[in-house]
Amino acid sequence: MVRHSSRIELSLSALNKNIRFIREKTGPDVIFSSVVKANAFGHGIDPFVPMAEKCGIRHFSVASSYEAYEVISARKAGSHVMIMGILYDSDLEWVIENEVEFFVYDLQRLEKARDVARKMGKKAIVHLEIETGGNRTGLPEAELGKAVRFISRNGDCITYAGFCTHFAGIESLANQFRVNRQLNKFSELYARSTKNGVKPLLRHTASSAAALAFPETVMDLVRVGTSQFGLWPSPDIYNLHLQHTGNVKDSPLTRVLTWKTDIMHVKNIKKDEFVGYGTSYQAEHDMTIAVLPIGYSNGYPRALSNKGEVLIHGKKAPVIGLVNMNVFMVDITSIPQARPGDEVVLIGRQKKNDITIRSFSEFTNLINNELVSRLPAAIPRSEVR
Ligand SMILES: *Cc1c(COP(=O)(O)O)cnc(C)c1O
Repeated sequence: MVRHSSRIELSLSALNKNIRFIREKTGPDVIFSSVVKANAFGHGIDPFVPMAEKCGIRHFSVASSYEAYEVISARKAGSHVMIMGILYDSDLEWVIENEVEFFVYDLQRLEKARDVARKMGKKAIVHLEIETGGNRTGLPEAELGKAVRFISRNGDCITYAGFCTHFAGIESLANQFRVNRQLNKFSELYARSTKNGVKPLLRHTASSAAALAFPETVMDLVRVGTSQFGLWPSPDIYNLHLQHTGNVKDSPLTRVLTWKTDIMHVKNIKKDEFVGYGTSYQAEHDMTIAVLPIGYSNGYPRALSNKGEVLIHGKKAPVIGLVNMNVFMVDITSIPQARPGDEVVLIGRQKKNDITIRSFSEFTNLINNELVSRLPAAIPRSEVR
């Protein structure tokens, strides 16, 4: 096996703990749909889906038909898959054949799905995604009556699985007025659309932040991404949790991901020498540096040039000079025992120290999800306890 320059480990015990905590918040009867779009937020669909199944998850949500295909390749038979985003007409046949559920937000898609389903003699499983004020995708209010009548008339070809919406920024308390308007609109439209007795199997609106902090948004199913990976959706949601528990500190969510590499090369340099490209770092004293085989092409942000830190032998080693495409340098003057081949932690814990994903956002403007979801798919991922 040819070796990659870094590796990702995924903790099953952390995932189990996170899912249990979120389930406590939602109650046991709500379907937990694990959102695994963007290669499971960079954790890797292939290893992550079976891990989630070990924690009792049997429903997965993705952003595209291609991701649905990836989940189907990784899942156990019987786990459900739902597409919340892009689905091309040319993939409808594959989707219906594989009983993949999908969001519908216009009448054309409904007609097309009916036509394909009829031809195949198999039902399309649809969730009506309702426009409630987010103004992303969503079926306009004016088309709702028509859509429900269409589903009702074509019950032999369409399973009316869901009635749903997505909040526009529920992780931030500043958006609360907007979220409340969306929730009211959702209830009003649900009541109106079911007046004639045509009802969906499920109602759902909640993402991580909603499921953790706003019980009124938790209905029959929750679509949980960020928090299952042990990441808080925002400081607001963490603070609401603390308020709710009355604790000043609590850590019910544990990061699932650890990202590691190893030292590629070690060298001693003299005071006044420059390190790497350009003149952004000049040694203030004689020092020892380590070269790491990781750069911005591997997902390590260039914005951490002269700012980031990694862990070696449990100690923090600061990034010096620019992060290049495939390498960067760290100062190991205070870690004299470091040798080529020694383990380096880029994200995660080593002995008593920890590099958090949040620490990256402080220097880079990258939000948690942006950083992890961009970790290249080629990095090998493995499950650990
Ligand atoms: C990404 C996404 C979610 C999950 O959001 P998190 O905040 O990561 O839990 C839920 N619903 C939809 C429609 C999404 O696009």
